[in-house]
Amino acid sequence: MTTEPSGNLTGRPVKRHCPFCGRRLSNRFWEGALRRFCRHCNLPIYENPIPAVCAVVPDDRGRLLLVRRGVEPKIGAWCLPGGFMELGETPETAALRELREEAGLNGRIASLLGLYATPSRLYHTILLAGYLVMPEDGRPRPGDDATAVGWFDGDDLPTIAFDRHLAFIRDFQNRKGPEAQAPGR
Ligand SMILES: [Zn+2]
Repeated sequence: MTTEPSGNLTGRPVKRHCPFCGRRLSNRFWEGALRRFCRHCNLPIYENPIPAVCAVVPDDRGRLLLVRRGVEPKIGAWCLPGGFMELGETPETAALRELREEAGLNGRIASLLGLYATPSRLYHTILLAGYLVMPEDGRPRPGDDATAVGWFDGDDLPTIAFDRHLAFIRDFQNRKGPEAQAPGR
């Protein structure tokens, strides 16, 4: 697993105000890193990776489901269905919810493809879990942040918005096993 150096406060929007007391934050070297710090509360403002999920969804012919992004970043590009976890969810329920919201499909989790720390301009680091999800029912239709949904042959993919999404697709394609060879229900 790789990530950018921790404690890097440059290159993205910086928190200005303490979430507890509302006063202005400063920087302080604390526990091995330069962090935002509230002198009034005498507390460092810890910042952590944001958990997100995405789903590799093959149909019974082995084609892969992609959604075209209707929002920035990478608006207009294709990617796996996915998004940020919400409070109260497990990663698995988040992946199935995003699939339902963005692509109109219900599915079931088949396996975890991997868990990666991936750099983000806005969030510094996203902790991204990729799942292999088998479609159960529903008709693909774009919803939420997607403007189109389509099934694509693995060797004829459009440009994928995020390197890590493409890596999950390649991970899936390189798998040797009954689930990857014949992704039935
Ligand atoms: Zn404070």
